Amino acid sequence: MKAKKSLGQNFLKNDTIINEIVSLFNVTEKDLILEIGPGRGALTKKLIDLPSNLICIEIDKDMHMFLDKYESNKCHIIYEDILNIDLNKLLASYEFNNLYIVGNLPYYITSPIITKIIDSKINALEMAFMVQNEVADRFCSLPKHREYGYITLFINYHYNVSKEIFVSKENFNPIPKVDSAVIKLVKRNNNYTIDDEKYFQFLKDAFKFKRKTLKNNLQGYDFNRVLSILEENGLSVNARPEEISEEVFIKIFNSLNC
Ligand code: SAM
Repeated sequence: MKAKKSLGQNFLKNDTIINEIVSLFNVTEKDLILEIGPGRGALTKKLIDLPSNLICIEIDKDMHMFLDKYESNKCHIIYEDILNIDLNKLLASYEFNNLYIVGNLPYYITSPIITKIIDSKINALEMAFMVQNEVADRFCSLPKHREYGYITLFINYHYNVSKEIFVSKENFNPIPKVDSAVIKLVKRNNNYTIDDEKYFQFLKDAFKFKRKTLKNNLQGYDFNRVLSILEENGLSVNARPEEISEEVFIKIFNSLNC
């Protein structure tokens, strides 16, 4: 059966990498793993050997012929679009200690999937995802780097993100145009007591035009307050959003009382 490009089907064919991904988690029989996009089962065939229960969500019903053999009372396969599933409702029917999420993600919806998981507040303890290498760099970036942006701050607010494995494109069938990387996300308990939704709206505004200065992007905000935080932190009035760390963004946000 031909791989469906429109569904981001690039199947992982290197067993060493598959083993490395699966060994990123240290699960017990009381935990639950959610796999996104099992495809032909490259990861699934190893995940079923772990002690925890497994739920797989695959959009392509044609994958039945590869995945049926993994169905058991420990492994459930659901044929559905991950973006349409009510994750809270799904997980409510399982009993578990910690939730782990894994997937060689379809690249065309990497950020929407991760955003959905975070927004749904299902509180996964750890996640490991294969993503495009440049996307991995964006998620792991530090301030003052080209890749640093809203999505970096959004994800790192909730999870500590690290790039674990570089995976060159030859490890997939069919071979995609670009290289990939596996990232690991570990739940972070930040002690901020702020209104998350307002904070993320403020960050979206701050990064509205990445090449513009913060001053230009934050037109509707009290810029005198922003300026005093910038000065206190050794930043210029013309600072651009990608120069500003999470710590300073939080200080600015708090000073604005929004
Ligand atoms: N896990 C397999 C592997 O590593 O070889 C397949 C990975 S392939 C990059 C991505 C998989 O995600 C495909 O099987 C594809 O059909 C599935 N997929 C694409 N969009 C999806 C969606 N919206 N919801 C669930 N699965 C999706």
